[in-house]
Amino acid sequence: MARYTGPVCKICRREGIKLFLKGERCFTPKCAVDPSRKPYPPGQHAQRRRKMSEYGLQLREKQKARFIYGILERQFRRHFEEAQRRPGSTGENLLRILEMRLDNVVFRLGFADSRAQARQLVTHGHITVDGRKVDIPSYETKVGQVIGVHPRSRQNAYFTGLQEVLKHRAVPAWLSLDANAMTGRILSAPTRADIDSNIQEHLIVEYYSR
Ligand code: SF4
Repeated sequence: MARYTGPVCKICRREGIKLFLKGERCFTPKCAVDPSRKPYPPGQHAQRRRKMSEYGLQLREKQKARFIYGILERQFRRHFEEAQRRPGSTGENLLRILEMRLDNVVFRLGFADSRAQARQLVTHGHITVDGRKVDIPSYETKVGQVIGVHPRSRQNAYFTGLQEVLKHRAVPAWLSLDANAMTGRILSAPTRADIDSNIQEHLIVEYYSR
């Protein structure tokens, strides 16, 4: 299960927007996209870049989505191919598949500060689906399933502290959260309106349809 391990703040600077890849730090003045820091893309010649081509825009949008969800190219393409096979709009299907990944649901429920941390909680075996341990971050959750914390992990300091935080946590409309039980239920598949990611999915579809 490979993942990107390079510097993540550079990715935000490249895209010119906050992608919230580092949890709490993203909400502090230490954020590299903060106007008081480096308001230009990384790289020696970044400040004299020319206007971006159509292809460049599509590529950047695809990369942005990939980095937001923390997925490498091969798996992202696999998700796209799956989205194409399903009925309806490919772009929306793709976003729905990305949102319903187990690591993303764990993040949306507030069990983790970032998707990277959510992924780690899953791979370390702290997360259950319908009471059974699932340690695959890309596992696609289904409507009606209950995502929880493994009983053994509930005693650990991270999760005992988290319970209080979850009581004040708002989750998206397609999820419900029981803070005391530390479980969340998938109420429905997310619609486009439920997904707040700043992604123009039609550019990604155009990128892969070249
Ligand atoms: Fe991006 Fe967060 Fe780093 Fe800011 S702190 S540049 S939002 S990863």
